[in-house]
Amino acid sequence: MSSYVVSRELLERNIKELKKRAGQVPIWAVIKGDGYGIGALPLAELLHGQGIDHFCVTELREAELLRANGFETESILMLREIRDRETLHCLLDQRAILTVGSLETAAIINDIAAHRSDIAQIHLKVDTGMGRYGFLPDQLDQLQQVYREMKNLAVCGIYTHFNCAFNNEELTRQEFDVFMQVVTALHTAGFETGIAHCCNSSAFLKYPEMHLDGVRLGSALLGRMSFPAGLRPVGYVQTEVEAVRLLPAGHTTGYGALWKAKQDCKIAIIPVGWYHGFQVSCKPDMSRKRDCLRAALSALKGLLKRPAAYVLIKGKKCKVIGAIGMLHCAVEVSHLDCRVGDLVELQINPLHVKGMPIVYKEL
Ligand SMILES: *Cc1c(COP(=O)(O)O)cnc(C)c1O
Repeated sequence: MSSYVVSRELLERNIKELKKRAGQVPIWAVIKGDGYGIGALPLAELLHGQGIDHFCVTELREAELLRANGFETESILMLREIRDRETLHCLLDQRAILTVGSLETAAIINDIAAHRSDIAQIHLKVDTGMGRYGFLPDQLDQLQQVYREMKNLAVCGIYTHFNCAFNNEELTRQEFDVFMQVVTALHTAGFETGIAHCCNSSAFLKYPEMHLDGVRLGSALLGRMSFPAGLRPVGYVQTEVEAVRLLPAGHTTGYGALWKAKQDCKIAIIPVGWYHGFQVSCKPDMSRKRDCLRAALSALKGLLKRPAAYVLIKGKKCKVIGAIGMLHCAVEVSHLDCRVGDLVELQINPLHVKGMPIVYKEL
């Protein structure tokens, strides 16, 4: 009965706004994580309808999904540095552009391409701080070796991925400068780098001067930024009021009896809980002591000033009361004419949505 509703109209509005801000610079739409939770294919199709024909993926199956569904000539950039030979063969079958962030990967891809009598299109990855993939900025010799020795690789791009664009301008500017120094050094040595790109959504929105030759946008498409950006979240959970209860003063609701009625009141039971992703955020890695401590501290902070959670019932804001259960939560509706079956809307990051279908709607 619950569903996650994606508004085509809001999604299109965000895409138009982002295209406007990008101007002539092409948008490479990132559709990883099953399209950030709203479905890689419907997201890609909607983007395509808005004139976007560059896509970024992190899984072979995402590249296959696009090619199998009519995206025959669009660019598909594999963002992960893949070294597995079988996967690389499949990616080349799909005409994906591959990421090369080390000499070892370059050699593997070059070898495979040579055996196929093929030229593999690649983007070089420079590690300016993320520390996952990429040539370190001082590995210019190795970068040049790719050009000199790998005859079956065609460098058609170079990029980096910022780790702090959402919250640290100084560090991001440093990383940008380092990236540009690498690009310039390659040019000076006489090598073509193809298109240079470094912006994710945060960097794109905050630093227009870093747009370069392309921008890789994911979360901005869905209107889910951690700072105000003039974009709207494109989706919400839609469900129905499951029960309406009249509770006397002094009665409690939810595990732990964390909420107690100050006076006689009316509450509604909503069939959505933390299992579905409601009020759940990314889980820290609890295998590390340091992260345990950090999580405990932030939980403590949350207890002291936890922002109230709300749902909309027939468009009216209602406060969630008591602890959210696995499959239910309760909201205060004393101020409302509220009945079983009334429509409820609430916000969950689609990446966390579980146990309900994703539905695209016109509105
Ligand atoms: C996920 C990802 C992006 C998109 O990031 P958003 O912040 O969601 O826009 C861009 N580039 C790389 C390499 C990524 O992994």
